[in-house]
Amino acid sequence: ESTGLVKHFGGGGLLSSPTIVRAVDGVSMAVKRGETFAIVGESGCGKSTLGRLLLRLIEPTAGDVRYEGRSILGLPPNEMRKLRREMQIIFQDPFGSLNPRMNVRDIVGEPIWLHGLAHGAEKQERVADLLRTVGLIPAHGERYPHEFSGGQRQRIGIARALAGEPKLIIGDEPVSALDVSIQAQIINLLEHLKDRFGLTLVIIAHDLAVIRHMSDRVAVMYLGEIVELSDTDDLFDDPLHPYTQALLTAIPVPSPVNRQPKPLLQGDVPSPAAPPSGCRFHTRCPHAKARCREEHPRLEAAADGRQVACHFWREIQNAGSGALTAPP
Ligand code: SF4
Ligand code: MG
Repeated sequence: ESTGLVKHFGGGGLLSSPTIVRAVDGVSMAVKRGETFAIVGESGCGKSTLGRLLLRLIEPTAGDVRYEGRSILGLPPNEMRKLRREMQIIFQDPFGSLNPRMNVRDIVGEPIWLHGLAHGAEKQERVADLLRTVGLIPAHGERYPHEFSGGQRQRIGIARALAGEPKLIIGDEPVSALDVSIQAQIINLLEHLKDRFGLTLVIIAHDLAVIRHMSDRVAVMYLGEIVELSDTDDLFDDPLHPYTQALLTAIPVPSPVNRQPKPLLQGDVPSPAAPPSGCRFHTRCPHAKARCREEHPRLEAAADGRQVACHFWREIQNAGSGALTAPP
């Protein structure tokens, strides 16, 4: 759970007025135990920064992160270390996070040793179990990361994340570097592990298609802010925010005649160092009006526990201009 979470990166020590990058700006959200919560948006929207803030891998500029009711920000190192075991992260490119000089047995066994969970033969048995759990074989333990394919390396990264017996796993674009067929395998594996171990999953993705079938709820981020928060089915059936509508329109339709995804959005994401005034999406929004340039929309409650940050979401919804309904 996060309240008013803010992360500003100060840069440019040589400049007289250093650039402040508002990577995450006032994000409040609560992940429920046992759910799969997705955070989506184009790259540069602050998703990864948010993921790291939730695990306190980086410290926020302001705001709070609570885990099981208590703030984790003030925790002393020894208590934080215990918590780290419960909260694991897996990355887009597991290769970058797997030590190339360690064999797989040591990579997966390290957290077991680090947290004193098992020793000797018992530890080796656990490593073998973990490898089987993620669809590898124990003999793979003798090999090194470079000997595996991308999908297998992600399985190794997942086995390592599981080794500390976590309750929460954050996946930062866990399948975006993989072929589509392999993506489905890894997603299926994560869903299976979630059920088997009662995990809570937070999946960070730029691709809505990836999270559609696995996530319970979705937070859509744009330039460091959550612009829509919703149950996954509601979000796909009836996206409320123009940015969500644009993201959904960009999902390619799987048909032989229509291979090309429609253009995502006009222009690039503006720099988070100089976000647009008012609604940050106004420079790219087809519904923008004068008010949007001046007034910053707050995240407000909509039906079914949904939240949306747009001055005109009701009007847009009534006009039936959702991403999936073509205007007459
Ligand atoms: Fe578009 Fe205005 Fe809504 Fe922002 S507030 S999403 S610019 S209509
Ligand atoms: Mg990222």
